[in-house]
Amino acid sequence: FIHAQIESWLNIMVRLFPEVVSVKHYGRSYENRTLTYAKIGLGNWNKPIIFIESGVHAREWGSVTSALHIIKKLLIGYRKNEERLVHLLRRFDFYVIPVCNPDGYDYTFGPDFLHRVWRKTRSKTTAENCVGVDMNRNFYRAKGDKHGVYSMNQCMEDYPGKRPASEVETTHLIRLLNSIRHRVKGYYSVHTFGQLWFIPYAYSNNLYPVFEDMVSRLVGWLFRWMVGCLLA
Ligand SMILES: [Zn+2]
Repeated sequence: FIHAQIESWLNIMVRLFPEVVSVKHYGRSYENRTLTYAKIGLGNWNKPIIFIESGVHAREWGSVTSALHIIKKLLIGYRKNEERLVHLLRRFDFYVIPVCNPDGYDYTFGPDFLHRVWRKTRSKTTAENCVGVDMNRNFYRAKGDKHGVYSMNQCMEDYPGKRPASEVETTHLIRLLNSIRHRVKGYYSVHTFGQLWFIPYAYSNNLYPVFEDMVSRLVGWLFRWMVGCLLA
């Protein structure tokens, strides 16, 4: 599905479930496509937010469909009145961006393999034949981050742009996040590079302050989940 079809699908969801989902635009891309997120939650007070974004890398279609699947799961759970899901929707607002980089994403539906494997945005660089920036590397970096893997060659796939937030898609995402940052309690950036789970502060060799707490919670959760599966 190209970007416009995803937007139509989201609009259908809003028509079907207006009390739980709304669709908002948070800007426009370099090629003037709408930048869109779906907000899913019950009640209209300012709840904590779970933020999920996908489609930063154009060719990673699986991340886009994962985001759409999450939206669908939440809405079907709501319609079936599944207790746990309704509880989640009362407790949190889910913000889901299926396609952060719609220009690149639509480009991957072009006629040949070179289109299909496109990863970056579609903005012009100063190098005539080299288009786009790796949006994933176009954000501000932490002080002391010397480990970032990227190339300053504009023609390379991991070119981070001439400066942080040089891409309009990045700027709009940062602006949206800034406007809700005190409410964001969970942030997931979904990719389909590999079966890996990256955690924050990965740029540093130091353990970050709540690392052990997080690992013990994760292990506890995994254990409960496995026991749950065995008993099911
Ligand atoms: Zn990726």
